[in-house]
Amino acid sequence: MTTTGMTETSAEAAHPAPVRTVDALADSIRAAGLKVTAPRLAVLRALADAPHSTADRLFTDVRTELPGTSLQAVYGVLAAFTAGGLARKIEPSGSAALFERRVGDNHHHIVCTRCGTVRDVDCAVGEAPCLTPDDAAGFAVRAAEVTYWGLCPACQVELATTLTGPPLLSNKGAR
Ligand SMILES: [Zn+2]
Ligand SMILES: [Zn+2]
Repeated sequence: MTTTGMTETSAEAAHPAPVRTVDALADSIRAAGLKVTAPRLAVLRALADAPHSTADRLFTDVRTELPGTSLQAVYGVLAAFTAGGLARKIEPSGSAALFERRVGDNHHHIVCTRCGTVRDVDCAVGEAPCLTPDDAAGFAVRAAEVTYWGLCPACQVELATTLTGPPLLSNKGAR
Protein backbone atom coordinates (compact mmCIF):
# COMPACT_ATOMS: atom_id res chain seq x y z
CA MET A 1 0.00 0.00 0.00
CA THR A 2 1.34 3.41 -0.87
CA THR A 3 1.18 6.27 1.53
CA THR A 4 0.66 9.64 -0.01
CA GLY A 5 2.34 12.55 1.69
CA MET A 6 -0.62 14.71 2.59
CA THR A 7 0.18 18.30 1.77
CA GLU A 8 -2.15 21.16 0.95
CA THR A 9 -4.39 19.90 -1.80
CA SER A 10 -5.25 21.82 -4.90
CA ALA A 11 -8.69 22.58 -3.46
CA GLU A 12 -7.55 26.02 -2.39
CA ALA A 13 -5.07 26.62 -5.17
CA ALA A 14 -7.77 27.98 -7.46
CA HIS A 15 -7.99 31.07 -5.29
CA PRO A 16 -5.10 33.49 -5.19
CA ALA A 17 -3.46 33.50 -1.79
CA PRO A 18 -4.29 36.67 0.12
CA VAL A 19 -1.50 39.20 -0.03
CA ARG A 20 0.45 39.16 3.19
CA THR A 21 2.94 42.00 3.05
CA VAL A 22 2.73 44.16 6.15
CA ASP A 23 1.36 47.04 4.08
CA ALA A 24 -1.37 44.95 2.50
CA LEU A 25 -2.28 43.43 5.87
CA ALA A 26 -2.44 46.87 7.45
CA ASP A 27 -4.59 48.13 4.59
CA SER A 28 -7.12 45.33 5.06
CA ILE A 29 -7.28 46.03 8.77
CA ARG A 30 -7.90 49.73 8.15
CA ALA A 31 -10.45 48.93 5.45
CA ALA A 32 -12.40 46.99 8.07
CA GLY A 33 -12.50 50.15 10.17
CA LEU A 34 -10.02 48.86 12.74
CA LYS A 35 -6.85 50.35 14.16
CA VAL A 36 -3.67 48.60 13.04
CA THR A 37 -1.87 46.94 15.96
CA ALA A 38 0.93 44.39 16.11
CA PRO A 39 -1.31 41.57 17.40
CA ARG A 40 -3.88 42.27 14.67
CA LEU A 41 -1.17 42.16 12.00
CA ALA A 42 0.21 38.92 13.41
CA VAL A 43 -3.20 37.22 13.64
CA LEU A 44 -4.13 38.29 10.12
CA ARG A 45 -0.89 36.92 8.74
CA ALA A 46 -1.35 33.65 10.64
CA LEU A 47 -4.89 33.40 9.21
CA ALA A 48 -3.54 33.94 5.70
CA ASP A 49 -1.00 31.16 6.21
CA ALA A 50 -3.40 28.69 7.78
CA PRO A 51 -7.06 29.05 6.82
CA HIS A 52 -9.66 27.18 8.91
CA SER A 53 -7.56 27.47 12.05
CA THR A 54 -8.73 27.40 15.64
CA ALA A 55 -7.93 30.31 17.94
CA ASP A 56 -5.47 28.00 19.74
CA ARG A 57 -3.63 27.22 16.54
CA LEU A 58 -3.44 30.90 15.60
CA PHE A 59 -2.26 31.72 19.11
CA THR A 60 0.62 29.26 18.71
CA ASP A 61 1.58 30.85 15.38
CA VAL A 62 1.27 34.40 16.65
CA ARG A 63 3.40 33.71 19.70
CA THR A 64 6.40 32.83 17.56
CA GLU A 65 6.16 36.35 16.17
CA LEU A 66 4.91 38.19 19.25
CA PRO A 67 5.88 36.16 22.32
CA GLY A 68 3.98 38.45 24.70
CA THR A 69 0.57 37.84 23.12
CA SER A 70 -2.09 36.17 25.26
CA LEU A 71 -4.73 33.73 24.05
CA GLN A 72 -7.31 36.23 25.30
CA ALA A 73 -5.82 38.89 23.03
CA VAL A 74 -6.05 36.53 20.06
CA TYR A 75 -9.72 35.88 20.86
CA GLY A 76 -10.26 39.64 21.04
CA VAL A 77 -8.61 40.20 17.67
CA LEU A 78 -10.64 37.40 16.09
CA ALA A 79 -13.87 38.84 17.46
CA ALA A 80 -13.00 42.26 16.03
CA PHE A 81 -12.06 40.72 12.67
CA THR A 82 -15.26 38.71 12.50
CA ALA A 83 -17.40 41.72 13.41
CA GLY A 84 -15.52 43.87 10.88
CA GLY A 85 -16.00 41.36 8.07
CA LEU A 86 -12.27 40.68 7.85
CA ALA A 87 -12.55 37.08 8.94
CA ARG A 88 -15.21 34.44 8.91
CA LYS A 89 -15.93 32.08 11.75
CA ILE A 90 -17.22 28.61 10.97
CA GLU A 91 -18.36 26.13 13.56
CA PRO A 92 -18.56 22.57 12.23
CA SER A 93 -20.40 20.32 14.65
CA GLY A 94 -18.01 18.81 17.17
CA SER A 95 -15.14 21.09 16.22
CA ALA A 96 -13.80 24.20 17.89
CA ALA A 97 -14.65 27.38 15.96
CA LEU A 98 -12.46 27.81 12.90
CA PHE A 99 -11.44 31.11 11.36
CA GLU A 100 -10.53 32.07 7.82
CA ARG A 101 -9.89 35.19 5.75
CA ARG A 102 -12.01 34.16 2.81
CA VAL A 103 -15.20 36.12 3.47
CA GLY A 104 -18.30 37.25 1.68
CA ASP A 105 -18.43 34.65 -1.10
CA ASN A 106 -20.89 32.20 0.44
CA HIS A 107 -18.46 29.31 0.07
CA HIS A 108 -19.07 26.09 1.94
CA HIS A 109 -16.87 23.55 3.67
CA ILE A 110 -16.18 19.87 3.50
CA VAL A 111 -14.93 18.27 6.68
CA CYS A 112 -13.27 14.89 7.17
CA THR A 113 -15.19 12.90 9.78
CA ARG A 114 -12.03 11.03 10.70
CA CYS A 115 -9.21 13.56 10.93
CA GLY A 116 -11.04 16.90 10.84
CA THR A 117 -9.33 18.23 7.71
CA VAL A 118 -11.36 21.14 6.29
CA ARG A 119 -11.47 22.25 2.66
CA ASP A 120 -13.38 24.99 0.88
CA VAL A 121 -16.23 24.17 -1.48
CA ASP A 122 -16.97 27.12 -3.77
CA CYS A 123 -20.67 26.68 -4.21
CA ALA A 124 -23.33 23.99 -4.38
CA VAL A 125 -24.69 25.16 -7.75
CA GLY A 126 -24.99 28.67 -9.13
CA GLU A 127 -24.93 31.97 -7.29
CA ALA A 128 -25.35 32.58 -3.56
CA PRO A 129 -27.23 31.24 -1.69
CA CYS A 130 -26.74 28.30 -4.09
CA LEU A 131 -29.41 26.31 -2.30
CA THR A 132 -33.10 26.92 -2.63
CA PRO A 133 -35.16 26.29 0.48
CA ASP A 134 -38.32 24.31 0.02
CA ASP A 135 -40.10 27.12 1.89
CA ALA A 136 -38.21 30.24 2.97
CA ALA A 137 -41.12 31.32 5.18
CA GLY A 138 -41.13 34.77 3.63
CA PHE A 139 -37.46 35.41 4.39
CA ALA A 140 -35.25 37.14 1.83
CA VAL A 141 -32.48 34.53 1.78
CA ARG A 142 -29.00 35.94 1.21
CA ALA A 143 -26.65 33.11 2.06
CA ALA A 144 -26.57 29.41 2.82
CA GLU A 145 -23.96 27.65 4.88
CA VAL A 146 -23.42 24.00 4.11
CA THR A 147 -21.08 21.57 5.79
CA TYR A 148 -20.37 18.45 3.79
CA TRP A 149 -19.03 15.54 5.78
CA GLY A 150 -16.91 12.76 4.40
CA LEU A 151 -13.55 11.07 4.38
CA CYS A 152 -10.58 13.00 3.05
CA PRO A 153 -8.34 11.34 0.44
CA ALA A 154 -5.64 10.53 2.99
CA CYS A 155 -8.11 8.88 5.35
CA GLN A 156 -9.64 6.91 2.47
CA VAL A 157 -6.20 5.55 1.67
CA GLU A 158 -5.56 4.72 5.31
CA LEU A 159 -8.87 2.99 5.83
CA ALA A 160 -9.24 1.55 2.33
CA THR A 161 -12.92 1.05 3.06
CA THR A 162 -16.01 2.72 1.76
CA LEU A 163 -17.86 5.20 3.84
CA THR A 164 -21.00 3.72 5.33
CA GLY A 165 -22.60 5.68 8.19
CA PRO A 166 -20.23 8.50 9.00
CA PRO A 167 -19.68 8.83 12.73
CA LEU A 168 -19.41 12.54 13.43
CA LEU A 169 -16.50 13.98 15.28
CA SER A 170 -16.71 13.87 19.03
CA ASN A 171 -19.74 15.79 20.15
CA LYS A 172 -17.90 17.39 23.03
CA GLY A 173 -18.83 21.03 23.18
CA ALA A 174 -21.24 20.82 20.26
CA ARG A 175 -24.18 23.10 20.46
ZN1 LIG B 1 -9.18 12.68 7.03
ZN1 LIG C 1 -13.33 28.33 3.93
